[in-house]
Amino acid sequence: MEKFLDRFLGYVKKNTRSDDTKAGVVIPSTPSQMEFLKDLSEELKEIGLVDVKINEKNAFLTATLPANVENAPVIGFIAHVDTADFNAENISPQIHENYDGKDIVLGDSGFVLSPQEFPNLKNYIGQTLITTDGTTLLGADDKAGVCEIVSAMEYLINNPQIKHGKIRVAFGCDEEVGVGADHFDVKDFGCDFAYTMDGSAVGELQFECFNAAEAKIDILGKSVHPGDAKNKMINALTISREIQNAMPSICVPEKTENREGFIHLIEAHGNVENASLTYIIRDHDKTLFENKKYIVKKVCEDINERYDIERVKLSMHDEYRNMADIIKKDTRSVDIATKAMEVLGIEVNKAPIRGGTDGSKISFMGLPTPNIFAGGENFHGRFEFVSVESIKKAIDVIVEIAKIAAEK
Ligand SMILES: [Zn+2]
Repeated sequence: MEKFLDRFLGYVKKNTRSDDTKAGVVIPSTPSQMEFLKDLSEELKEIGLVDVKINEKNAFLTATLPANVENAPVIGFIAHVDTADFNAENISPQIHENYDGKDIVLGDSGFVLSPQEFPNLKNYIGQTLITTDGTTLLGADDKAGVCEIVSAMEYLINNPQIKHGKIRVAFGCDEEVGVGADHFDVKDFGCDFAYTMDGSAVGELQFECFNAAEAKIDILGKSVHPGDAKNKMINALTISREIQNAMPSICVPEKTENREGFIHLIEAHGNVENASLTYIIRDHDKTLFENKKYIVKKVCEDINERYDIERVKLSMHDEYRNMADIIKKDTRSVDIATKAMEVLGIEVNKAPIRGGTDGSKISFMGLPTPNIFAGGENFHGRFEFVSVESIKKAIDVIVEIAKIAAEK
């Protein structure tokens, strides 16, 4: 118990914030992430993993735990070392033993983590909570995942009576700025299936995410002196309004949940002469997703037909896809993880993600990669927390997955 806690606290104290402005331009986007990987690679060697190597091109550290049994599938576990776009200077984790269900004062910051605001806290009564001091995020997203994978590998090495196949681990950068898995080397990783340890509360097993696209609409108006504008001026802002009014008003994030998709206006800029609108389009269902893209296309075409020249230009591209389409073809990853959680008495939560994961990109590279809970909650801000018990459960799940996969 002590050891993985020390490991986790050591990881979170290292500032590994990624930088959106350098995402994909410099790999990794901040040097501190590479420093973290270098330290981590030494640790992996120390605990006895082999083939430890850092790929400078994609900023992934990979390593192997050799099999001690034959004919088991090769399983991968993946976590990211960077933290989200929030202060990560001098992270000072606070430990609250035997949580009593009341408000937690976060250091001297004046911020309070309260079950009134975050009712989920009530699930942690009696547990040991790790919080921030209110000035930074915690970075349990995804240092908890890193800690869990390393600790599970160490446990398997120290308990050779547990039979397992070959296990590969990978630690990457820049997940939070959306480019971390772009150059992931599936072939080099060489797994039958893998898991990202990057979910939230205990029990999460995610293998369905959105299909996602972004649509940028550029609008060209015709600016004329307003005093002399009758039948001459074409106001790009008016066209913007026409476009937005033509979009289905119930398909927006604030009116949808579960498997309902949306067409979401995220940005609008403009003046009389030029305007632009940016939408994101999301749906779990491939057909409904394509329908939504068609709606956006049709709205733009209809507007163009109404005006003298092509006033509206649409550029739309797919961002990521629902990994369920891949994972349904080979369900071993989900079946084994489900069984592992059931054996451990964990209630499995397979709710679809209303977002994406690195695993969805990796799945579409040919490696089925669902996402498992890492235990933290309230990611990406000062109210982030994780319980020691949740981290322990995630370690147990990894070990159990290794065991069950070797039984098959
Ligand atoms: Zn994460």
